[in-house]
Amino acid sequence: MTQPSTLAPARTADTRLPLKVLIAAPRGFCAGVDRAIEIVERALTRYGAPVYVRHEIVHNAFVVDTLREKGAVFVDELDEVPDGVPVVFSAHGVPKAVPANAEDRGLDYLDATCPLVSKVHRQAERQVEAGRHILFIGHRGHPEVIGTFGQVPDGCMTLVETVEDVASLSFDDDAPLAFLTQTTLSVDDTNAIVEALRARFPQIVGPKAEDICYATSNRQAAVKAIAAKVDLMLVIGATNSSNSVRLAEVAERMGTDARLIQRGADIDPAWLDGVGTIGLTAGASAPEVLVREVIDRLNALREVEEDVVTTAEEHITFKLPRQLAD
Ligand code: SF4
Repeated sequence: MTQPSTLAPARTADTRLPLKVLIAAPRGFCAGVDRAIEIVERALTRYGAPVYVRHEIVHNAFVVDTLREKGAVFVDELDEVPDGVPVVFSAHGVPKAVPANAEDRGLDYLDATCPLVSKVHRQAERQVEAGRHILFIGHRGHPEVIGTFGQVPDGCMTLVETVEDVASLSFDDDAPLAFLTQTTLSVDDTNAIVEALRARFPQIVGPKAEDICYATSNRQAAVKAIAAKVDLMLVIGATNSSNSVRLAEVAERMGTDARLIQRGADIDPAWLDGVGTIGLTAGASAPEVLVREVIDRLNALREVEEDVVTTAEEHITFKLPRQLAD
């Protein structure tokens, strides 16, 4: 997504005019990310530093560094957590073996798994209890996928990443099957995979709507609403943030150049050559302060005219774990 798309129109804007910035709404933090960060902050207040966090709490370096400065210690695995200190599990969810291991060691743990990911975990258990094999649509190696596979015994779930994967599945045509999905996928790609699964295995059961979360689909719809009107789309988000990468892909598929950036300083002034209008959005793990930072950086390069384009309102909040509720 850092290369100019071949579908992109030639940039011919008069760069002496102000740069128009269409800011997508909704963008940035979702309810699951808000909750996960609040869990770490409240744990620091309640228990004092250090509070250990298994895996990046959310995929954003700014968020992780800010929490680290407050006393959070980020580790990859539970065996890096010393005895006697609290540990938080990230918003992406963890295999069942992780809390079980924490309990065995007598660790105080707080689960920041997004409730929408936990919902998929419970669906996975139910499908396996009903005797079905699960075809899980997701991206290999993503922590959410690892966590969801870890909810059911080995061999009960198969990963499907593409429409092509569906043709190579070796199940009997009438096998008892169910599908589930990662929460942060491309809505369009996932619909195509689900269609291919239903065509190949008409008996397959799945959720009424795929499990792509409200925040992922709202942010993709907001990008779709502005991508055709801009010369360049900037997406604030990390390269390991699934929902952020999908936002850049959505713009590119509409023929618009897209750049995934982490900070305002990542903007190369040459990107603005011939550009009259820029689209700006942020993945679900990117804070609003970075949106302002990017606008300030653009303003430093050229006078900016901001326009917020709202395609949905979000009012969702999730409860904190019992141990941390007021
Ligand atoms: Fe939850 Fe969706 Fe946010 Fe992930 S992107 S934390 S699933 S609301």
